[in-house]
Amino acid sequence: MPLPSVIAIDGPAAVGKSTIGEKLAERLGYLYFDTGVMYRAVAWAALQRDLSPEDTAALSALAETLDIDVVPPTVSDGRQYTVLVDGHDVTWDIRRPEVDAIVSPISAIPGVRQALLGPQRRIAAHGRVVMVGRDIGTVVLPDADLKLFLDASVEERARRRFRESATRGDAVPYAEVLAALRERDRSDRDKPISPLRPAEDAIVLDTTNLSIEEVLAEVERIIRDGALKAEDD
Ligand code: C5P
Repeated sequence: MPLPSVIAIDGPAAVGKSTIGEKLAERLGYLYFDTGVMYRAVAWAALQRDLSPEDTAALSALAETLDIDVVPPTVSDGRQYTVLVDGHDVTWDIRRPEVDAIVSPISAIPGVRQALLGPQRRIAAHGRVVMVGRDIGTVVLPDADLKLFLDASVEERARRRFRESATRGDAVPYAEVLAALRERDRSDRDKPISPLRPAEDAIVLDTTNLSIEEVLAEVERIIRDGALKAEDD
């Protein structure tokens, strides 16, 4: 029974893409790769170097030269993977609100997107991969075998993000989480290049009222149905 080899999962911030992507990859025995990490690494490095988000030339050069590595977890503290930037473990630092605040405008810079495109395509080139982001189905992997677009109301996503940060002992008030998400949605959707939107051939799943297990069951049903259909064709 043929299964999709390259699976793209896109959707807005805090919708649960990384949770679903990781679990799906684990069940299929595929590689899981979260492309948001790369944009976050560039944003984190820009803060370290005091670069202004408006300095597009310096930020593009930074994205081209930065040594970003994603490796299996090196510490068992709930992380899905370890992110190294120039050899430093930045796994949790790239999740900080300062990074959240600038990552979307930085990811809107054409030179930054261009610099990260090749590495993302190379990671997917061997197949058996679940790649998660904003423009995977539309730009990075337009020939993906399966494209999913996860969505949920902004209030539900803010609740998910709030619960996640509280579990990490890093609680930001719910109202602040909601306001920051609204701003990031606006910025992600209005980007002149690679704006957040479902690919024409993506399957859109509204997860507002679904648990993680329910979303996974739905995704597995979609994969099974697709495989059966492929057998019939
Ligand atoms: O998914 P995550 O919230 O970690 O992504 C951080 C930011 O990186 C997003 O808000 C978006 O602006 C940018 N991004 C992107 N394209 C991707 C993945 C992330 O522009 N494929």
